[in-house]
Amino acid sequence: MSIQNNVKTGIRNPFEIVQKQCEECAGLLNLSPDVYELIRFPMRELHVSIPVRMDDGMIKVFKGFRVQYNDALGPTKGGIRFHPEETIDTVRALAAWMTWKCSLLNLPLGGAKGGVVCNPREMSLGELERLSRGYVEQVWQFIGPDRDIPAPDVYTTPQVMAWMMDEYSRRVGKNQFGVITGKPLLLGGAAGRNIATARGGIYVIEEAAAEIGLNLNNATMVVQGYGNVGYHAAALAHELLGCKIIAVSDRKGGIYRKKGLDPRLVYEYKQTHGSVVGFPDTEPITNGELFELEADILCPSALENVITAENAAKIKARLIAELANGPTTPEADEILSEKGIHILPDILCNAGGVTVSYFEMVQNFNMYYWDEAEVFERLQRKMTAAYRAVLQTAQKYKVNMRKAAYMVALNRLAEAMKLRGWA
Ligand code: NAD
Repeated sequence: MSIQNNVKTGIRNPFEIVQKQCEECAGLLNLSPDVYELIRFPMRELHVSIPVRMDDGMIKVFKGFRVQYNDALGPTKGGIRFHPEETIDTVRALAAWMTWKCSLLNLPLGGAKGGVVCNPREMSLGELERLSRGYVEQVWQFIGPDRDIPAPDVYTTPQVMAWMMDEYSRRVGKNQFGVITGKPLLLGGAAGRNIATARGGIYVIEEAAAEIGLNLNNATMVVQGYGNVGYHAAALAHELLGCKIIAVSDRKGGIYRKKGLDPRLVYEYKQTHGSVVGFPDTEPITNGELFELEADILCPSALENVITAENAAKIKARLIAELANGPTTPEADEILSEKGIHILPDILCNAGGVTVSYFEMVQNFNMYYWDEAEVFERLQRKMTAAYRAVLQTAQKYKVNMRKAAYMVALNRLAEAMKLRGWA
């Protein structure tokens, strides 16, 4: 399997990063060569062509993928992205991270990911529905409630999940709500799913703050990315923990106000103006400047590879909460560790989403639904248990929190593969 960097964007191939992380942790854990060989590559991947009748009457064929990385711990699980720059290597990397994430959170699930190369912003609702159903037509024999359970990701919504669930149910001849998560509430969605990733992040921020002696009341926080995860994290940190949100940003730029922002008013402004930029009584800043602000907590909540060897040394935060997937390059990680910054790595910090997705499956199987308070109580137990397991490993092996998170996850996975007789 060849791994190539994206020469067009110069962005580092995320699957190459996965390979590097795997190799390093296999060494630290003294994993057997058999186990290492089994976790280096996906167990199975599907490449499909999806013909869609467009509104102009012509057929357009879209490229799609589903990567099932490893199912030693249970059926595989992971979102589907609709993105114009989707690549098989990004899907492979995200499928591997899902595998480690489910293992770290002690969920009875393996990891997978899917993607379709398309631009949903340029498609009508009808075209989007035909594409969603077309994707299921190509992959339905490989997914299922006890086999592989997709979910939403970038540019896929509860409506897309509803169409996909419906298409799968039609093909198997019965309602199968449990085939996909992130569905609308009326069709078996879980209460609290839309804020679950941010809420899970808040629980581990509380644990980490207690560990490093940071008083969260009035602690300053900056948030890069003001979408589903970034906005809810800012609002919850402000309202539940008393944090002062001094800067936020989106793809168009950032805003800064030393005395603090009201996250909900900023969000309302973004809804009407298309960006946080221009929010009254704030100073404009760039996404680059945002990372260098004097603040207690930094929350990257947008994209991969934003904390790099170039800007890591200038970061002043005491705590970095990685709500985005893969925001820190391995080189930057070394620099942040040397500076003694406490990092909540992505596979821990943003695992609230998959955990509540798992709760959604459990509720679908039982046909009995919990209220939001019950969902969050169970989520908090899972997130704090994972944080403590990572912290204990970091202290025991004298490694940083990211390496410790990988070690906990890969150790469990290796144990499962040994028990199953695979290695
Ligand atoms: P989203 O599309 O709702 O929001 C993304 C935000 O990032 C938007 O505000 C966008 O303007 C901003 N953005 C895009 N490019 C940017 C740039 N160059 N600089 C600054 N900001 C930029 O997406 P989301 O669901 O909030 O996901 C954000 C991250 O969290 C992704 O890495 C995703 O994989 C990860 N994540 C999301 C979930 C979930 O439940 N939604 C779960 C786990 C991880």
